[in-house]
Amino acid sequence: MTAKEVLKLIEDEGIKIVDLRFMDFIGLWQHCSYPAHEFNEDVFEEGLGFDGSSIRGWQSINASDMILIPDPSTAKVDPFSEVPTLIMICNVYDPITKEPYTRDPRHIAIKAINYLKSTGIADTAYFGPEAEFFVFDNIQYAYNSNEAFFSFDSVEGFWNTGADEMPNLGYKIRHKEGYFPVPPHDSLMDIRNEMVMLMEKMGIVVEAHHHEVATGGQCEIDIKYAPLVEQADNLLLYKYIVKNVARRHGKVATFMPKPMYGDNGSGMHSHQSLWKDGQPLFAGDEYAGLSELALYYIGGIIKHARAIAAFTNPTTNSYKRLVPGFEAPVNLAYSSRNRSASIRIPMYSASPKAKRIEVRFPDPSCNPYLAFTAMLMAGLDGIENKIDPGEPMDKNLYDLDPIELSNIPQMPASLDEALNELEKDHEFLLKGDVFTEDVIATWIEYKRENETSAVNSRPHPYEFILYFDN
Ligand code: GLN
Ligand code: MG
Ligand code: MG
Ligand code: MG
Repeated sequence: MTAKEVLKLIEDEGIKIVDLRFMDFIGLWQHCSYPAHEFNEDVFEEGLGFDGSSIRGWQSINASDMILIPDPSTAKVDPFSEVPTLIMICNVYDPITKEPYTRDPRHIAIKAINYLKSTGIADTAYFGPEAEFFVFDNIQYAYNSNEAFFSFDSVEGFWNTGADEMPNLGYKIRHKEGYFPVPPHDSLMDIRNEMVMLMEKMGIVVEAHHHEVATGGQCEIDIKYAPLVEQADNLLLYKYIVKNVARRHGKVATFMPKPMYGDNGSGMHSHQSLWKDGQPLFAGDEYAGLSELALYYIGGIIKHARAIAAFTNPTTNSYKRLVPGFEAPVNLAYSSRNRSASIRIPMYSASPKAKRIEVRFPDPSCNPYLAFTAMLMAGLDGIENKIDPGEPMDKNLYDLDPIELSNIPQMPASLDEALNELEKDHEFLLKGDVFTEDVIATWIEYKRENETSAVNSRPHPYEFILYFDN
């Protein structure tokens, strides 16, 4: 859709409010609404001003004016607001220089695609994310998270996995058996159907949806692959729809990677492939029907995984998911068979067009613009430097003996560790000016100040079980 078409849509549909949206630095969608009469063709050129000083990780108070310029191709009628409202995704600009704002995640993703084209390697990077999430009854998680001290009741509720719960109270999903009996065991089918209908109405093609393994209402909705920037845009709509439909039903959806101890966490496996002139570049005669280029891409991801984890697994909670035994990867290896490897080559389809790799470590707490971009830059570094990914690992990695294991690199064990890795290893992200030193430094500083040290310095509920009566 062009700017002119958007203005016509506003007329034709009787749109009263235009809701401009942008992604903040950390990964939460933000918006500001304007009555339609404030909106005209100039806005697509000059944008609308807003105060960027209160946005996490952005400008300080003395340099806070920012501009939002909507991308007309993203216009969608909002299915949730009562007054007819049009949503548009924006790019963020600096009002003085009139340049795109360097800490705008969408701008970083756009630069990555420009860089990809400039290398001549490919012109399109497709991403297909499988975001998982939990739908909880509001009550279940309505505890006061601001309190550093949890009562013992809430400690019980929080740390008891329900693994040995007896008796079976009728259609309650058994521990780790959510994947995937029919209703009434799956009590969320209607809610997922409603989510899927809205996604399709908003132009996101859905391939499948199902209950996931975890007991507490874990779901997955898979969307069709799309180019990097569009797919990150799609994921914001995806989360918006999932959360708002849950809300309509008096429930709450969370993309927190590991809300339940002892049960599966929520990942966001990310399928990816490179294309040039309409031709797939990942299909070939090497291992699992991959091309040499695809193997180098894997080499780059494995080499830099410990650093890009700071973007693909960007929360302290992310590392509680990356432990053995819950279908989440720990070891940095690739395989066509093995779902315990962090990179899997799906073999469902022999078609070269479907040839792709599935990177399994990312989780849905990420900022998708930054996570996709970081993976692409790592993969490109692999191609540019012909990085050998090593031998594939076709056995169950959870069963390796300690000597075999010691030869395989591991994902970081904590966000602290990932941030330290990113600090040491980020040259490959700076190519083409995609990530800047400022973006890397601000990310690390923000995460340390607001997240790792905040979590590390609070008494943990489980510490009361371990130490209270010492
Ligand atoms: N929930 C698992 C994870 O954390 C994935 C389960 C699956 O899709 N096979 O990655
Ligand atoms: Mg899946
Ligand atoms: Mg899944
Ligand atoms: Mg998968």
